[in-house]
Amino acid sequence: MREFNCPYCRTQLAFEQIECVGCRMPAVFDPNRIAMVRSEEVESCSNRQIIGCNWCRVSNRYYCESCSLTRVIPSTANSRNVWLWKRVEQAKRRLLYDLRRLRLPLCSKQGMQVSFEILSDEHGPVLTGHRAGLITLNLAEADDVERESRRVSMRETYRTLLGHFRHEIGYFYWYVLIDEARLHAPFRLVFGDETNSYDDALAAYYARQDRSHDPASHISLYATSHPWEDWAETFAHFLHIVATLDSLAGLPLSLETRARETLRDPYLESDFDALLDLWSPLARSINVLNRSLGLAEAYPFDISPAVKGKLHLVHMALVAFRNRA
Ligand SMILES: [Zn+2]
Ligand SMILES: [Zn+2]
Repeated sequence: MREFNCPYCRTQLAFEQIECVGCRMPAVFDPNRIAMVRSEEVESCSNRQIIGCNWCRVSNRYYCESCSLTRVIPSTANSRNVWLWKRVEQAKRRLLYDLRRLRLPLCSKQGMQVSFEILSDEHGPVLTGHRAGLITLNLAEADDVERESRRVSMRETYRTLLGHFRHEIGYFYWYVLIDEARLHAPFRLVFGDETNSYDDALAAYYARQDRSHDPASHISLYATSHPWEDWAETFAHFLHIVATLDSLAGLPLSLETRARETLRDPYLESDFDALLDLWSPLARSINVLNRSLGLAEAYPFDISPAVKGKLHLVHMALVAFRNRA
């Protein structure tokens, strides 16, 4: 995501900032204009005070577009929950920004509506997942220590809040981009037959002793469990790629003409190869930079030819959807 500018003094503002560091004026983001706007022109989201939501209200509502989609919030009786909820909503706003830039709807033709519930597991286990547009997120995933310990115990190379959201929303867009678009045949050719029992596949996946996977065929171990999981993982990676390329657009680097064209709007780039040609050296570069700082690789994944084919189908389905709309 590119940086934004303060509408009063033009200082650069990050997406999450609630106040300009230059002039101390409030920073309010308007998702319709995809810009920071003057606070006197709009009403701020009612969650601004409690969790620092910096979006403006949807007209006639108390909340912004993002907060309005959260149906259930954790108990705000303890301050830790509030702090974790704040982090969850920050990641969620980045997801909604991606969806807006991709011009994707939040409601399917069959009436399925994207919504969220953020639940604390204080009173029982909470499974992060998706059901008919409703995304459930376990609040504990916002706790760095908790999430990192889960990542290690599940032998994952990458686990983030934003990654969870980009993965879970993938199921909803399977219905919109594949099912409603009648693209089952190409989907099955590339990802496999999704009519195989999902419950059986997941049970077999969790019972599996061998936790290795072949990176030539799947982007992650979890993607091997069922074609739907493979799609959701691949969809998340497509979002990682276009969002990170969008950030590249704002950096002071000299780039060739074709690259600059792609970076004008990576979310809407129609040439898939142009996206990947930019992404591969960028992913390698951020990994090298991270290692120089003693950090883990930012993008610990390999895009093999098979995975590239899957990403290409995601891109094709997105372009086809936009052309129909
Ligand atoms: Zn300012
Ligand atoms: Zn809000």
